[in-house]
Amino acid sequence: MTVEICPKGRAWMEISVENLTYNVEQLRSLLPAGAKLMPALKANAYGHGAGITGRALNEMGVDSFCVASVEEGVELRDEGVKGDILILGYTSPENFRLLKSCELTQSILDYDYAKILNSWREPLNCHLAVDTGMKRIGEDWENFDRILEIFRMDNLDVSGIFTHLCVSDGKTPSEREFTYSQGEKFNAVVKKLNALGYEPKTHLLGSYGLLNYPKLGGDFVRTGIAMYGVLSRSNDMNLSGVQLKPVMELKSKVTAVKKLEAGEGAGYGLDYRAEKPSVLAILSIGYGDGLPRELSNGAGEVLINGTKAPIAGRICMDQCLVDVSDVEAVHCGDTAVIIGKSGNMEIRAEKLAEQAGTISNELLSRMGTRLHRIRV
Ligand SMILES: *Cc1c(COP(=O)(O)O)cnc(C)c1O
Repeated sequence: MTVEICPKGRAWMEISVENLTYNVEQLRSLLPAGAKLMPALKANAYGHGAGITGRALNEMGVDSFCVASVEEGVELRDEGVKGDILILGYTSPENFRLLKSCELTQSILDYDYAKILNSWREPLNCHLAVDTGMKRIGEDWENFDRILEIFRMDNLDVSGIFTHLCVSDGKTPSEREFTYSQGEKFNAVVKKLNALGYEPKTHLLGSYGLLNYPKLGGDFVRTGIAMYGVLSRSNDMNLSGVQLKPVMELKSKVTAVKKLEAGEGAGYGLDYRAEKPSVLAILSIGYGDGLPRELSNGAGEVLINGTKAPIAGRICMDQCLVDVSDVEAVHCGDTAVIIGKSGNMEIRAEKLAEQAGTISNELLSRMGTRLHRIRV
């Protein structure tokens, strides 16, 4: 059924292409010489909407992307996103045909997985993951014989090689030393390959790598969180000094306003108690939309008419209550800002994530499918 639904009818996200463009320009200014961005569009572009984000980046001349899974790669193609798309995680042999039909590049997770890829019926375009210390995916950097064997496999076109930094957001001397050692291990492998005539494209930096260690180099930089204008935590290390602008604003409607007498309770478990005569606004957004339930009972706040209003009682699946006793003139149909600006006030994703006991990456990537994503 094709029906037109007002995207701002219930709960929605506004995606600022202006701020995304600004962030891309800032991050490009930090790139190692000759390097290009390879934005991470996994988890629905960190909740921002993979199609909207990918197409906007295409308009900015970005033509390389990475995602977590083959499904995400197929979705980007369905959404009309152009360019190279690298699958960072495991793809099951049953789905190898999709790598071909959607022109996706597969990561080689290690030597054993390379053999599985190589035994498939057609040649596949791949990047080799190398483990330099994270102990997640990647062939061990010390196994150069195996790495070389992978490059020599008949059915694999290994056009890239990469590793992943695991403490590039860390400030301690040992974390900095570890990051440099990861860079050295990776470069040692690349150097040996080059000496044998193999010249794959290289990449090792993510957001924090680019902000804090741009000299580690590479042909691509896999920027995720920073490109969305957010850090994982407010006070994270950003030695680059670039200021980034949040791309997403999260909003919902006020659907009702309710007056309580002193002593009355509200919401599940009647967790909220009015200490004095109070006013509650009901919002059409809940944990089913990605608003963490940890923000219940005043742990989190929203903005209405430029004023902060604490979340009252327990967040429900589809709705939540906020105490607007101190907010002037709230009406049904007003807009509540959960992340973003209202008047002179702003709520940052980092802050909301902290109040929910997590990092902004998790908060954003769990934003629900019910939210409309609107390009502004
Ligand atoms: C998610 C991911 C990135 C992007 O990380 P950010 O810190 O969000 O920039 C880069 N590389 C790999 C392998 C990833 O899984």
